[in-house]
Amino acid sequence: MTNDEFRAYGHALIDWIADYHAGIATRPVRATTEPGAIKGQLPTEPPNEAELFSAVMRDLDAVLQPGLTHWQHPRFFGYFPSNDAPASILGDMLAAGLGQLGLNWQSSPALTELEEVSCEWVRQMVGLSPAWSGVIQDTASTATLLALLCARERATNFSLGRGGLQAEPKPLTVYVSSQSHSSVEKAALLAGFGRDNLRVVPVDESFAIRPDALESLVREDVAAGKVPCAVVATTGTTASTALDPVKAVCAVASRYNLWVHVDAAMAGSAMILPECRWMWDGVEGADSLVLNPHKWLGAVFDCSLYYVRDPQHLIRVMSTSPSYLRTAADGKAPNYRDWGIALGRRFRALKLWCLIRGEGVSGLQARLRRDMGYARRFADEVARTPNWKVVAPAPLQTVCVRHEPPGLEGDALDAHTRAWCERVNASGLAYLTPAVLGGRWMVRVSIAGLTTQWDDIATTWGAMRRAAEAAI
Ligand code: PLP
Repeated sequence: MTNDEFRAYGHALIDWIADYHAGIATRPVRATTEPGAIKGQLPTEPPNEAELFSAVMRDLDAVLQPGLTHWQHPRFFGYFPSNDAPASILGDMLAAGLGQLGLNWQSSPALTELEEVSCEWVRQMVGLSPAWSGVIQDTASTATLLALLCARERATNFSLGRGGLQAEPKPLTVYVSSQSHSSVEKAALLAGFGRDNLRVVPVDESFAIRPDALESLVREDVAAGKVPCAVVATTGTTASTALDPVKAVCAVASRYNLWVHVDAAMAGSAMILPECRWMWDGVEGADSLVLNPHKWLGAVFDCSLYYVRDPQHLIRVMSTSPSYLRTAADGKAPNYRDWGIALGRRFRALKLWCLIRGEGVSGLQARLRRDMGYARRFADEVARTPNWKVVAPAPLQTVCVRHEPPGLEGDALDAHTRAWCERVNASGLAYLTPAVLGGRWMVRVSIAGLTTQWDDIATTWGAMRRAAEAAI
């Protein structure tokens, strides 16, 4: 493709994306295809000769479109918001267009320094003290893995320089809650702790971790000759946005020298609102935390911010220094390859920087406040409707609901919940995610689409009630 062709197709593609956004509300939210249907329409072998990009765009319309679940749809209330703010899309395109690769500072000084600045901006925006240093990771899953690797190494006085975890005389333990995201368990297992040393702390009636139960487990493990190593507290759990009491968790942790990692992947964005910061009160006592601007805030996926109190832990565990990567700038600027697993680094800061500049802190704050207001209003409507229940506190933008018609309980109630949710999703009108909370199925309504308005919520609420009555 020549540069002129690139220019022409690029303009056409931008138009296509803008049209996609403009018309998205008329599409069924959930993909309308069956498994294998997209693949079945595509050649099984790659083209030997170059094709025109216009042919690719034709397939975009004809083949790929039906296979899209529209995360940017105003009635997408599933999983969590993965907002794609237009300014951030431009930043991501710029990252692709510039083709920069961060291997060390010298390989792209602008990439490194914009990342420093963007992390610093967000640090200020969420009210963290200057004691924190940030770096952009791809996902919260990676950030949590890094946290547990660093916790492991701190607890073993950097065993990786000797025999590694396998040579340690005592097993190390990690504490999570039953509501921790699945990535936490995965990280603990990948970091080598072993399932027997992954301790699941019970939660209270609001689905928040119980610090007293944490302490009991830690004591039990110490008595059994194990070494308590790390605890993961969540600000905004995945199922119900429950808030673990970070301060109390840190208090227990400091008595037993545990690394505290705060998973604020979803709720971290809300900390740009001063009135929400009580939700992670005590966070300054943690060792690391993750928040995902690629969720609610509006940065294009993937953009996850990992903050640490002491980057030296990270650097000591992650650093590599082959001859071909050494430069005279080493020591004068961060080499972010030493702050994570991957060597090569995308220019991810661009999409965050463009987002913050494009919306401004006050614009972002206003949008998040709007979403929380919608969620409160929706929760109130559900709570005062006969046979409907809000089944968990809704401090943020996710409302967990259940339709409980008289006489329906246990497995029959679960089947009913999943059936009405599927009816809504299959209709294409809206998209909701069912999940298990406290042993029972419920339906999460995650409100925070960029273009979502109250009418979208009201229409969906009507569809939910009709589907629930029809499913009895
Ligand atoms: N932690 C929490 C609390 C989440 O809600 C999620 C995603 O839903 C994750 C971690 C995983 O995020 P990522 O996809 O960035 O790994």
